Amino acid sequence: MSAIVAIVGRPNVGKSTFFNRLIQRREAIVDAVSGVTRDRHYGKSDWNGREFTVIDTGGYVLGSDDVFEKEIDKQVELAIGEADAVIFMVDVETGITGMDEDVAKLLRKVEKPVFLAVNKVDNTQRLQDAVEFYSLGLGEYYPISSINGSGSGELLDDLIKVL
Ligand code: GDP
Ligand code: MG
Repeated sequence: MSAIVAIVGRPNVGKSTFFNRLIQRREAIVDAVSGVTRDRHYGKSDWNGREFTVIDTGGYVLGSDDVFEKEIDKQVELAIGEADAVIFMVDVETGITGMDEDVAKLLRKVEKPVFLAVNKVDNTQRLQDAVEFYSLGLGEYYPISSINGSGSGELLDDLIKVL
């Protein structure tokens, strides 16, 4: 059974973009996990030869970004229960939101490894802006751009160490 990595976070931060990057050239898993729900997508990925399963959460039930906070919390809790490691994605373009703080609060209680990915860091100005995410109380973060791929290597190097 391959290790499971869940990508969680509020809508629009770039979870699905990152998920698609991770599973590129591979197929999304359909019904490979019993009780698979429509609000989560599973895919296979690997980094430096280490295979793992990725869960992309959110947005599928309602088919839009208009997801209630309660629903996001539920999905985060489900994903955390299932995962060996969690990637918590936030968005430097909008900065910290109340929903980010709620998810961070849940994740601070979790014993599993949590990787804070600050997405949409497409340029060096945004690298400066990313420091505000220290205030989520989750420690070190990984500045990444799911669109151009920058920073994802550092995140994946550290991720596979804990799988
Ligand atoms: P999700 O709701 O968290 O799954 O977010 P999506 O992956 O659907 O992305 C939401 C929006 O953010 C889309 O318009 C993406 O193109 C955009 N986006 C995702 N990653 C990046 C990034 O690294 N940089 C920028 N500038 N936009 C991004
Ligand atoms: Mg999505």
